[in-house]
Amino acid sequence: MKFGRTIVAAIAVGTALGLSGCGGGGSAAGSTVKIGIKFDQPGLGLKSGADYTGMDVDLAKYLAKELSLGTPEFVEAVSAQRETLIQTDQVKFIVGTYSITDARKEKVSFAGPYFIAGQDLLVRADDMSITGVESLAGKKLCSVKGSTSAANVQKLVPGVNLQEYGTYTLCVDALKAKNVDALTTDDTILAGYAAQEANKGQLKVVGKTFSKENYGVGLKKGDTAFCQKVTDALNKYFSSGEWLKAVEKNLGPAGYKPGAGNPPTPAPCS
Ligand code: GLU
Repeated sequence: MKFGRTIVAAIAVGTALGLSGCGGGGSAAGSTVKIGIKFDQPGLGLKSGADYTGMDVDLAKYLAKELSLGTPEFVEAVSAQRETLIQTDQVKFIVGTYSITDARKEKVSFAGPYFIAGQDLLVRADDMSITGVESLAGKKLCSVKGSTSAANVQKLVPGVNLQEYGTYTLCVDALKAKNVDALTTDDTILAGYAAQEANKGQLKVVGKTFSKENYGVGLKKGDTAFCQKVTDALNKYFSSGEWLKAVEKNLGPAGYKPGAGNPPTPAPCS
C-alpha cells in the first residue's frame, strides 16, 4: 500500500512539472510568441492565405524554436510601425528587412546583422532613362514611410520628387500604373517584386546599389539578455548551414545572390 502511494505521488509530481513546462527551454507547450514580419515582400516576408514564407519568416521560425519561445504568431510590421510595435510589446521581436541604424537604436535594440543588402532602384522594363541614383532628377520616385530607403535617397538627391507610401506593394502598383517612374528600396525586396508572376517582364532592377543595409532582429531596447540569446542562435544559424539554405531557397528563385560581406558577423549586444 505504501509503495503504491509513492508511485501515485511521483506521477502527480511528474504531471505538475509537465504542465508547468519546467522540462524544457522555458516556455510552456502550447504558448505562442508574437513576431513582426513583412506581409507583402516576396522572398522575405509574404503572407499567402494562412501561409507565411520568405527568408525573414524562416529565421523567425528558427529563433522561436531554438529559443523555445512558442508557436510563432505573425503580426504585420510595416516599415513605419516597427519601433512602436516593439516599444508597446505588440511583438516580442521583428524580423522584417529591418536595417540597424543609430536613429532606431534610440528606441529599440538589435541582434545581428544577419544579412547585408543594398538600396537599388526598380523601374519599368522598357525604361532606359534611369540607370542609377544619378539619373533621378526630374523623375517621380516612390518609397515607403519610415524606411531608410526614403531617408537615404532624400539625402543623396536633394529635392528629389519622392512619394512616400505605407507599403512597397503600393509603390509597385504606382510604378506599373505610371504614376511614378521608379521605386527605391533594398535590392532584396526589389528582386522579389521583379520576379513575381504578376510583374514578370514588366519591371527590372537597375542593379547599382547605393547603400549598405544591415538587417537586424529588432527587440526591446536594453534587453541585453534576449539580444544575447538571439545572437547565439544567429551564430548557430550561420555555422549549421541553415542560413545559406534559407537564403538560397527564398532569394534564389528571383535570381538574387547575396553580396559581399554575407553572411555578416553579428555585433556584440550592448
Ligand atoms: N531595410 C530598409 C529599412 O529598414 C528598407 C526596407 C524596409 O522598409 O523594410 O528601412
